[in-house]
Amino acid sequence: MSPNPYPLGLRLAGRRVVVVGGGAVATRRVPALLDAGADVFLVAPELTPALRAHVDAARLHWARRRFAPDDLDGAWLVQVAVDDPIAAASVSAAAAERRIFCVRADDRAAATAWTPAVTRHGPVTVAVLGGGDPRRAMTVRDAIRDLLGARTEISRTPAVAGEGPSPAAPPASAPPSPTGAPGRVALVGAGPGDPELITLKGWRLLTEADVVVADRLVPGLLLDELRPDVELVDASKIPYGPSRAQEEINRILVDRALGGKVVVRLKGGDPYVFGRGGEELLACAEAGVPVTVVPGVTSAVAVPAAAGVPVTHRAVAHEFTVVSGHVAPDSPASLVRWEHLAGLRGTLVILMGLKNLPVIAATLVAHGRPAETPAAVVQEGTTGAQRVLRSTLGTVAADVVAADLRPPAVVVVGDVVSVLAAAG
Ligand code: SAH
Repeated sequence: MSPNPYPLGLRLAGRRVVVVGGGAVATRRVPALLDAGADVFLVAPELTPALRAHVDAARLHWARRRFAPDDLDGAWLVQVAVDDPIAAASVSAAAAERRIFCVRADDRAAATAWTPAVTRHGPVTVAVLGGGDPRRAMTVRDAIRDLLGARTEISRTPAVAGEGPSPAAPPASAPPSPTGAPGRVALVGAGPGDPELITLKGWRLLTEADVVVADRLVPGLLLDELRPDVELVDASKIPYGPSRAQEEINRILVDRALGGKVVVRLKGGDPYVFGRGGEELLACAEAGVPVTVVPGVTSAVAVPAAAGVPVTHRAVAHEFTVVSGHVAPDSPASLVRWEHLAGLRGTLVILMGLKNLPVIAATLVAHGRPAETPAAVVQEGTTGAQRVLRSTLGTVAADVVAADLRPPAVVVVGDVVSVLAAAG
């Protein structure tokens, strides 16, 4: 038995790493090297399209040829990602000569370094070496990943404020909590209904939250998995009118964050699609609370998809327009030029439109959208309770009443509605 490997975290920022080979292995390895800030030098006669995209975006240097030993001059690490054992051995030899660690996908025994199976959880990286057996490493890694996803104490270190742009305020101005840790708010899109359609980042932040302020449309199962000590505020139960309720939500977000709490504002779909996310961001900004916005899968796209309706389709629709139907077209408060929408040929996706559907459909037809245009209505899309109604613009409003469809529902109008119908 050979001795155990010595684990290290390599800090590769700005350091030259040579990758030899342009196929599937290199495609898998390069992103993590780029993520670590490495100065990647790729040597290969041919590249996969994904690697080519990195080259096109100037994320790495590409030498379009076979490997030459000089390529390793100045390198800190080399990754061999070629199948040919003779070519791989020549890279190994050149690396050994220069005392550069060499990872070999083709022959782990010949390698001087192994890449571990990795799971990243905010600032924490867990790397697992399986004693030369990559499958064992992955199995252990998966178990740890599940554990971290379920609940983590490690992730209590501030992760949000340092990530991505924080338009509201720099982390430095974050208010100190009694424990000294800064409070913060994340506006997280929970997706359209299926609890698995939250993003990985959204899910991670949810597992880190002290306080979760949730909307009516948020998938209940996501809340089911919160730790018992998390304060859950049900925003739909706040007993005032809509604008007063929004003020109250803003107040709760700011108040808890100023108290040093990690607050997740969880919203159905995407926070900025008819979600009032912008108002909450501004309220936090005014109070100097750092905010992260985590986009979500919006119902405007996902709910039609769940019912077999693609919002665009080649040669059928080259545009989709998302519009709120909560204000009637004939209301002075309407900001939508329905008469212009009627002239569009593409897909129209209407959110919050059930109540006003009779007048919306009539307006569209009156201004030129053909009454026979296919239309579909999807209630509680992506959930177990999903209901789909297929109709036409001329009859959809009456059909919704007859079928007793209720909110939340998405109405989609356009030829895309029938495009996949044949596929069942
Ligand atoms: N921010 C959300 C939309 C909020 S407006 C998003 O990006 O999806 C609320 C409207 O979204 C509802 O009235 C309905 O029109 C639509 N909606 C949200 N989830 C839905 C679902 N699962 N099924 C059908 N419609 C849904």
